[in-house]
Amino acid sequence: MQEFHGISASPGIAIGPAFVYLEDNPRVPKYEVAFEDLASELERFRTAVRRAGEELEALREQAAETEKGKKNAGFLDSHLLMLEDPEFHSNVEQRLNEEQMNVEWILYKAIQELIDRLGSTEDDYLRERTADIRDVSKRVLNHLMHRERISLADIETDVILVAHDLLPSDAVAMNKRAIQGIVTDAGGKTSHTAILARSFEIPAVLGLSSISQEVGYGQTVIVDGNRGRVVVDPDEETYNEYLRVQQEWRRHEIQLMDLNELPAETGDGKLIQLMANIEVPEEVDAVLTHGTDGIGLYRSEFLFLRPQGLPSEEEQYEAYSHVLKAIDNKPVTIRTLDVGGDKVVPELGGFAERNPILGWRAIRFCLARPDLFKQQLRALLRASVHGQLRIMFPMISGVEELNQALEVLEEVKADLRDKDVPFDESVPVGLMIEVPSAAMTADILARRADFFSIGTNDLIQYTVAVDRGNERIAYLYEPFHPGVLRLLRMVIESAHGSGISVGMCGEMAGDPLATIVLLGLGLDEFSMSASVVPEVKRIIRSTSMAEAQEIVGTVMDMKSYDEVDRYVQNLMERRFDVSVY
Ligand code: PEP
Ligand code: MG
Repeated sequence: MQEFHGISASPGIAIGPAFVYLEDNPRVPKYEVAFEDLASELERFRTAVRRAGEELEALREQAAETEKGKKNAGFLDSHLLMLEDPEFHSNVEQRLNEEQMNVEWILYKAIQELIDRLGSTEDDYLRERTADIRDVSKRVLNHLMHRERISLADIETDVILVAHDLLPSDAVAMNKRAIQGIVTDAGGKTSHTAILARSFEIPAVLGLSSISQEVGYGQTVIVDGNRGRVVVDPDEETYNEYLRVQQEWRRHEIQLMDLNELPAETGDGKLIQLMANIEVPEEVDAVLTHGTDGIGLYRSEFLFLRPQGLPSEEEQYEAYSHVLKAIDNKPVTIRTLDVGGDKVVPELGGFAERNPILGWRAIRFCLARPDLFKQQLRALLRASVHGQLRIMFPMISGVEELNQALEVLEEVKADLRDKDVPFDESVPVGLMIEVPSAAMTADILARRADFFSIGTNDLIQYTVAVDRGNERIAYLYEPFHPGVLRLLRMVIESAHGSGISVGMCGEMAGDPLATIVLLGLGLDEFSMSASVVPEVKRIIRSTSMAEAQEIVGTVMDMKSYDEVDRYVQNLMERRFDVSVY
């Protein structure tokens, strides 16, 4: 039995056999090769290159069948050229003879060195080639290691998914019914893998450093998403104990469902809007069964991350309309395209940037691509007749960007009016406060917006300067940092000063430990994964605004997150029994 500790990213207990998914980080074998076997090693390499070439040719033929395919197939030609490059072949051959190691290892090392070299050049073109090189070498390595390309969508039996890291596109495509639990080396509590795991109610522990290298296919794995614990090959006692805890957790969840029909109202009568975050339209069912007041964040970019490629205006219209119609006329906040950072859409350029988190993302990307932005706004406005739509812009850093985005929206509205296409003229338009400069100018932004939604996942990342997906510095990612709390207070006061409502759709809104503090700060709307709505509702219903404000008064005088953490933890365990987290 082995035990690992990581970041508890999605609650619940899962037990099952490991499915080790090493698509992006293959465990490359490394062994010495006798001199007389070098020729056959080289032959193995040539065969793998030939097979990779055949695979690319087949893909090119397939692409040539459609106009869209032809347009997008340029990269296949450059991948074929790389495979045929004589320098690539002579480099591998020379290293093989000098180092006398197996050819997978030689290829892997040669490619790593090349990527490191290119990654540090100032030349954008060369830097962008690293993704191509990685892709081509992976193709050859797959043949050398006889690895089939597996899609997470094809897994049919119940498994625990073990991976180095998961791309948001992997997570959104995986077969959610088969994947019972997720454990990964990388990632933090607010990485998109964690967010998706919570949305799909799959227990997950992330940030385990090297678990993907330590667990073998089929080994029994227990995922304790409540405590961030993973047990591999448990002994009988541990196994039975976890079966018991799993049942207890399920009972706890069923009990909370009793609150579904009740409002999120404090003891002294303040009504809070409890909304859900969704990534894909299929989540609407979960939203309806968890007693929510609507959708506070629909991350529309996941529509662009599907394996099927970019959605057309019509496909977007269908998806947005479906959600609006299915939600019983409750409000639905749809965020415009938030690509970039870790949400890379290959068809939109793949953005090989030195600093993607601070790069060409979200509204910056949309303002630079008015064709795509207008297409999405048209689809949204057309869908607005089917329910209570609210449009929200991500990553606004100042009033110039907000003004520009509003101008584009006005242009699209004018165009629809000209064409007599019906839409809701009074659709509310708001923005996310997730950049510190926006938080600090919230009073200015509030005059041009109908609502704010605080995106703490990014706001904390930028305020404390800590990458939200980096497990090494996850200890610094502190929602209760006094710097963060002061910014939150500033944003809420500015919004109320201008008479607009302010919500939060970052993960802090769904953290039961933070509920009472956010309540006391005056937040109007909380939006989170549907699965945590009942727990947060329970806390809201068992407190009063007077008590929450008194607690916030104490917290705002504290000097460090450590002090706030200890105080709140203690209080919540005593008053609200939230120790399960
Ligand atoms: C946020 O930043 O808090 C947010 C809700 O957006 P995302 O997690 O998609 O970046
Ligand atoms: Mg964000």
